Amino acid sequence: MSRKKVLVLGSNFAGLTAAIAVKHELHGDVDVSVLSASRRFLFNPSLIWLPFGKRRASEITFPVEPTFERYGIDFTESAATQIDPVAKKVTAANGDVRDYDYLVVATGYRNRMDVVPGLTPENKAYTITTLEDAGLAGRGWREFLDDPGPIVVGATQSAGCFGAAYEYLFNIAYQVKKAGLRDRVKISFVTSEPFLGHFGIGGLPAGEQLLTMFLKKSGIEAYHNRSVESIEHERLTLTDGTRLDFKYAMIVPPFLGQEVNKTAPGLANDAGYVEVRDTYQSKTYDDVYGIGIAAHVNAPWVTPTPVGVPKTGFPTEQMAHTAARNISSQVLGLDPTELSPFAEMPAFCVMDAGNNGVMILGNKMLGPDKGLMIPGPQSHALKLAFERYFLWKARRGYVQLP
Ligand SMILES: Cc1cc2nc3c(=O)[nH]c(=O)nc-3n(C[C@H](O)[C@H](O)[C@H](O)COP(=O)(O)OP(=O)(O)OC[C@H]3O[C@@H](n4cnc5c(N)ncnc54)[C@H](O)[C@@H]3O)c2cc1C
Repeated sequence: MSRKKVLVLGSNFAGLTAAIAVKHELHGDVDVSVLSASRRFLFNPSLIWLPFGKRRASEITFPVEPTFERYGIDFTESAATQIDPVAKKVTAANGDVRDYDYLVVATGYRNRMDVVPGLTPENKAYTITTLEDAGLAGRGWREFLDDPGPIVVGATQSAGCFGAAYEYLFNIAYQVKKAGLRDRVKISFVTSEPFLGHFGIGGLPAGEQLLTMFLKKSGIEAYHNRSVESIEHERLTLTDGTRLDFKYAMIVPPFLGQEVNKTAPGLANDAGYVEVRDTYQSKTYDDVYGIGIAAHVNAPWVTPTPVGVPKTGFPTEQMAHTAARNISSQVLGLDPTELSPFAEMPAFCVMDAGNNGVMILGNKMLGPDKGLMIPGPQSHALKLAFERYFLWKARRGYVQLP
């Protein structure tokens, strides 16, 4: 009997983990191939440091092909353009047509920049959510240092990556102080969260008080539960009419899934996210999985201003392992029984603040009722150590390690 074929789309946190994990689960007795739009792994959490010159692109990326090669996984750099779940084929931008027995969609996110008209570097309004964007934000930062003025940092309506917005806010406050500009630069924070420290997960016990104190101590003015109406050159306008002038702005937009996920009927929703069960199988196709940011997650609440759900690194790896175990069961002719509801996974994150930080621990991803936020310089040190550890682990493909 010929070996089963697993095709993975995407090669970052979710795709790299799933591809190697499925090989392990089946003790190598499976053909795994990866098709990805990028040949580089990117440690996105470090993008917050790139604009300040604290990291170069080469320090937070690595080529994935040698990693896959080590595990006998075939890698091709080309974006998938068409998924045909009936014929079980995927077409790639380079013209390749790949067939599969099991497909893992780990295609991540793209920015929804049109959420606010005028969110462009031409208006001095940047984002840091991709490597290219973070590079532009760095150019803008260097220009800002020559002509400083007010700063706005924020996360728009429907954004979900609040951690990055807070980290950038505290890092920029640290940089402003370091540059001796603290008395000359007013910093404002704009967020769609219903309260500070909601994070798109429902908040953590005492989180709001801690963040309010942090912001006050840093002299930052906060606007929560707000939508951004528009951005013009050096001016941001909220839907309540508030106008914030700036010389530098960094705004986190909402994310969308990739267009390719919408090419298969019933696979993805309008936002391009794969509708999944707790096994991470597609709701429509038993042999297609959606993991990481590509998987749709429903928030169990409605907020006055819409907010998204952060699909961070830890739950992404959990989803990848769950999918790998379920595919392995299917290959062996068993039912895919491993369930891992996103909402119930523990929340773990370290939020950096330049030379300080906060460790965030919650008993579950959505609506944690037990949790801790531990501030202090040790959290900054932990973030640095975690970056080194994670890049080492991912580059070697040691996906079984925590
Ligand atoms: C600025 C920032 C800071 C963050 N900070 C933290 C943090 O501190 N802690 C934390 O836990 N998480 C953090 N996250 C979240 C973390 O980065 C995500 O959990 C992680 O990136 C999810 O991985 P993924 O593989 O699902 O998606 P992605 O990282 O988006 O990877 C998607 C992959 O799919 C590929 N791809 C895209 N389109 C196609 C296509 N059509 N065909 C084939 N391949 C395709 C891409 O090239 C890429 O390889 C942060 C995210 C950002 C943006």
